[in-house]
Amino acid sequence: MLKGDVFLREKLGIVALMAVLAGIIILSQTVGDRLYEQVSGRADANNLIVIDSGHGGKDPGKVGINGVDEKDVNLKIALKLKKILEEQGMTVIMTREDENSLADSKSEDMQKRVAMINEGKPALAVSIHQNSYPSEEVHGAQVFYYTNSTDGERAARIMQEALLDVDSDNKRKEKANDTYYMLKRTEVPVIIVECGFLSNRSEAELLATEEYQERLAQAIAKGIIEYTSGEK
Ligand SMILES: [Zn+2]
Repeated sequence: MLKGDVFLREKLGIVALMAVLAGIIILSQTVGDRLYEQVSGRADANNLIVIDSGHGGKDPGKVGINGVDEKDVNLKIALKLKKILEEQGMTVIMTREDENSLADSKSEDMQKRVAMINEGKPALAVSIHQNSYPSEEVHGAQVFYYTNSTDGERAARIMQEALLDVDSDNKRKEKANDTYYMLKRTEVPVIIVECGFLSNRSEAELLATEEYQERLAQAIAKGIIEYTSGEK
């Protein structure tokens, strides 16, 4: 009888010990999960990018010397860029993913783009455009940022350098601007990437090709990743 009692007590002791151990394991897992959520949650905010494909619908943007519409070149580059960034684990919000604009009037279209950027609160918004100039010889990609944004300036500097991958002879420098609606009205770092001049014959021809669009998208993705990782 006494011997059995001790045996029972030992058994109960082991059960209690196992219960405590199980409790510790479950608790540490929960704490671990929470920590992971916090860390990955922060990483997510840093990984969120808005890609704005300029113009669309009735607004063609610039029309190239070769007849190509800026809105189409912008969208092609933007979609390629989205794919690359998502493959790198980034989250992408697109202001447009088809040929349509966001509204019938230009002012409402721009307001909607700005609202998407401000509500999305991305680490960076990149607006894709093509340039044009009266004299045909002018060419080369150029990046614009808001005059009063130090983050925008850093992003533009990194992006201008990344774009040397597509044209190592490009002497253009990133440029501050305080008049563009998109730069003035946005509350997060925004850069406008003018990928090239549709008024320059050879650049317009290049911009119309899938291969050059892909190279541009790769270079822009590299710039975005360098900016968000804080490497430069
Ligand atoms: Zn444009």
